[in-house]
Amino acid sequence: MERDIAEVLLSQEQLQTRIRELGEILTAEYAGKNPIVVGVLKGVVIFYADMIRQIKVPCQMDFMRVSSYQGTQSTGKAVFGGKMSENIEGRHVLILEDIFDTGNSLNFLYNHLIQKNPASIKICTLLDKPSRRNPEITLKPDWVGFEVPNAFVVGYGLDYNEAYRNLPYIGILKPEVYAE
Ligand code: 5GP
Ligand code: MG
Repeated sequence: MERDIAEVLLSQEQLQTRIRELGEILTAEYAGKNPIVVGVLKGVVIFYADMIRQIKVPCQMDFMRVSSYQGTQSTGKAVFGGKMSENIEGRHVLILEDIFDTGNSLNFLYNHLIQKNPASIKICTLLDKPSRRNPEITLKPDWVGFEVPNAFVVGYGLDYNEAYRNLPYIGILKPEVYAE
């Protein structure tokens, strides 16, 4: 696994420090709001588990699946798999996402959830790759852990064809790995 990584972009320490900082911000933001924290599976799982423990207010957990990726390429079309269990009408919704790339997936999810009349929907993404944004998408993440360059990253939940999710850090995958 390790030998397929060209460069460690974000170490475990960097990730945990930033998540604690975001935790303070989100704890203040959601005090008294009893938010529903929605994770976008599967890439978010590791970030979600660390982040939710730093949001020190009562909240509920929920998950959705939205995917637009095959290998390292965004198909540009997002599809759902899996429904939310919570009713979000009148509730504050916080979406946690691993990476905001073209923006297609979250735009799709946002437009779906907003029709259910929540009190608010905000987005916290661990990584943001603004260089890849679909110019038609105006939706922006409300909080970003780290901006990353235009490279394909894996680890800490992020996969390449379902592998590398269990790397404890975020690294850039060697291009020859996906050229194989
Ligand atoms: P978007 O719809 O914003 O283009 O894509 C968002 C999803 O694509 C992310 O949730 C993630 O699953 C996947 N994705 C985008 N960029 C990367 C990347 O650099 N590495 C990995 N592993 N997944 C990515
Ligand atoms: Mg994702």
